[in-house]
Amino acid sequence: MRIPTTVEEQLAAARHDPLRVLIAGAGVAGLTLARALRGRGLHPVLIERSDPNADKGYMLALLPLVDPIFRQIGVAAEFHAQSVPLRRYRLHGRHGAIIREYALDALLATPGDSRGIARGELLRVLSTGGMPVTFGATVTSITQEPGGARATLAAGDEIEADFDLIIAAYGLHSTTRELVLRPDQVASFDSGWGGWIGWSDTEPALADIGDETWGAGFFVGLYPVKGQFSVFVGGDRRDTATGPARFVARLRGELHAIDARTDRSLTAIASGEDIYYWKLVDCRCATWSVGRVGLVGDAAAGFLPTAGIGAAMAIESAGQLARRLDGVDRDGVPEALRAFERAQRPRVEAAQDNSRQLAGLVFRRGGMAAAVRDVASRFIPLRVALGTIRTLHDSAPAV
Ligand SMILES: Cc1cc2nc3c(=O)[nH]c(=O)nc-3n(C[C@H](O)[C@H](O)[C@H](O)COP(=O)(O)OP(=O)(O)OC[C@H]3O[C@@H](n4cnc5c(N)ncnc54)[C@H](O)[C@@H]3O)c2cc1C
Repeated sequence: MRIPTTVEEQLAAARHDPLRVLIAGAGVAGLTLARALRGRGLHPVLIERSDPNADKGYMLALLPLVDPIFRQIGVAAEFHAQSVPLRRYRLHGRHGAIIREYALDALLATPGDSRGIARGELLRVLSTGGMPVTFGATVTSITQEPGGARATLAAGDEIEADFDLIIAAYGLHSTTRELVLRPDQVASFDSGWGGWIGWSDTEPALADIGDETWGAGFFVGLYPVKGQFSVFVGGDRRDTATGPARFVARLRGELHAIDARTDRSLTAIASGEDIYYWKLVDCRCATWSVGRVGLVGDAAAGFLPTAGIGAAMAIESAGQLARRLDGVDRDGVPEALRAFERAQRPRVEAAQDNSRQLAGLVFRRGGMAAAVRDVASRFIPLRVALGTIRTLHDSAPAV
């Protein structure tokens, strides 16, 4: 688990480290990086803006790309125990009928299982054995000198501390991005869509199957985790502005075939209870480092959820960054960050492009476009649209 710890305690533990590291954001990338660095004998100071009671969040499908790094940081067994294999995927057309069912291993042609886990559970897995984190804390200023970086940490009181390396692992929507980059260095892509995330109970027979319905102006995704499944119901934001109850009512009118699982999911979203809204936007940064300050995960290149690969890339990137820092002294930090970016950026941006392309295919508002897509989906294998993922697996870097 993530262990609430004061900044002062963390700074004291890092005092004699050959590299004093600050990681802002104890999410997927931040925890992976902290764990990988702790395995190399460092004590990174890890701060997190939110409180310690991480809620379940949403479901993450993790591609087998994460397996080598999970083995290296010693969480593979726990991840296996807390996640479920995703073996089948069913694509439904605009009126709800199943167009195709895929075996996921054949679809992705990757070694090993993709596995489903709730984000909150993944954070617990990444903290197996205990991970010190200062909660309710953020960075309010960073100044850099040739020999080091000074950060002001707001954790109740304001504390100034010196570091050799500061990593921004604060995800897609951080308000502190401007401490690192100018606004013109961050390009945002807005799909124009958004949707609600909720949860529902699953029946054992469907525990390894994900369902997606690609409608005309709407999308329904059902994704299993242990004992439950996560529901995403979305559409063009001009339409979802009516609220979940009215949006779901419209959608039910368009679906001729609604199975029991979809029916329960739609009811859960329409109720408005325990759901939250997510805007489907992403971002891409022009550079991943400025001197001794580096970005990793969604902070560097944020993902749309469409290809289900953002978290896997955040985990891979964190592992690669830790590897680049092996044996690096204080003076070598800026070049290590640049080398990390040179090697990892092409992989991450290829995955991000794949997510955007898939969004272009899925997020169709017009009935005609959706009808054409329904027909095409019978003949053009989804395998083609996911080709990038297979390439990324085939060319995965050593951990
Ligand atoms: C609905 C949805 C479904 C998705 N499904 C998948 C999927 O199936 N498979 C997949 O691989 N990816 C998926 N993704 C993408 C995936 O969630 C992200 O790519 C991944 O979480 C990025 O990890 P990260 O560590 O960069 O950011 P996060 O996991 O978002 O972590 C960032 C952390 O930083 C904290 N923080 C923010 N600002 C500050 C600050 N100023 N100071 C300190 N802390 C701060 C946040 O509270 C958070 O804990 C999905 C995303 C969404 C929204």
